[in-house]
Amino acid sequence: MTAPRGPGKSGESLRAKAARKSGLARARALKQIERSRSRLMVCFLTLPVYMLGVWLLLEGRREIDIFMLVYMAIWFGFALDMARRNCPGCGRQFFVRSIVLNPFSRKCVHCGLRLRETPDSAE
Ligand SMILES: [Zn+2]
Repeated sequence: MTAPRGPGKSGESLRAKAARKSGLARARALKQIERSRSRLMVCFLTLPVYMLGVWLLLEGRREIDIFMLVYMAIWFGFALDMARRNCPGCGRQFFVRSIVLNPFSRKCVHCGLRLRETPDSAE
């Protein structure tokens, strides 16, 4: 028996399908990268809340160790998650150049691939 595996007449459509699929994977990867970035941004925005929390705890003469530890752990976790994201374009770390994490960057620090691709800039 011969399995109908060959590309045959659908060779071109298979290639188009693969291209579309890789485009989808790329878009999905970019979305995940953007999500991890916005998580850390939310952390930045909650910094005043954290400081207020510490101040209130100190006012009430309570321990702040656990509060601080939990906050730091959240930061560390999000930063680590961000640092290990790879660019779908060049495969290198999206936000990390040498050892410095650049959480504010909206594009890959290596190849310049943007998080949001505008439709008119598509290659
Ligand atoms: Zn890149």
